[in-house]
Amino acid sequence: MILDNKLLILIVEDEDTINNFIASMLSSNDYQYVKARSGAEALAMAASEVPDLILLDMGLPDIDGSEVIQKLRSWSSVPIIVVSARGHEQEKVKALDLGADDYVTKPFGTHELLARIRTALRHSNNRPANSEEIKQLNFGQLHIDLERRLVTLAGSDVHFTPIEYKILVLLARNAGKVLTHDFIIKQVWGPYTNENQALRVNMANIRRKIEKNHAEPKYIRTEVGVGYRMVEN
Ligand code: CA
Repeated sequence: MILDNKLLILIVEDEDTINNFIASMLSSNDYQYVKARSGAEALAMAASEVPDLILLDMGLPDIDGSEVIQKLRSWSSVPIIVVSARGHEQEKVKALDLGADDYVTKPFGTHELLARIRTALRHSNNRPANSEEIKQLNFGQLHIDLERRLVTLAGSDVHFTPIEYKILVLLARNAGKVLTHDFIIKQVWGPYTNENQALRVNMANIRRKIEKNHAEPKYIRTEVGVGYRMVEN
């Protein structure tokens, strides 16, 4: 039963220990939750409960998690965070490309999951209106002026090629969210290309220009086997 206007999260997870762990973590952080233990139940509850966000385990007893995403995305833009096992990088990529917003890897920490939830909720709230109005993006000492197409790092201008700039802005507009290689390539080069090598080269150039310590990147993280994520500040 929905008691007030706290945000409602649908937990889709067939393992009771994990389901209960997430549930108690959510309620102690001021979220409400409902639980589903199968894909079919998840789809039914997504329609009946209209959650603000869905946490989706990919290994479900009836239908595959990716099928759940596909079905949900045919009618809903609710943020979906996938919960996936370590080593299942292809599964994560597929989930993201089907329209999931983000993922966490089992076993995950409370802090990490809550941060992902906040990011996904914020992006879903910002989606329609704000993207046009944002004129500047700031990350620590890195400033991107979208109107003048200027980037500065600690006060000094940094020069990018048009493609590098496009990639940087794409990541920056989606800060906190992982973007898959495929997604970035399609956004930058269009739908009919396979520019994996070009993406790697451009990314290396961008990092050379903005990261001081290459072993510990401050602004753009590599999500191994999946894609890249701009760090939120
Ligand atoms: Ca499972």
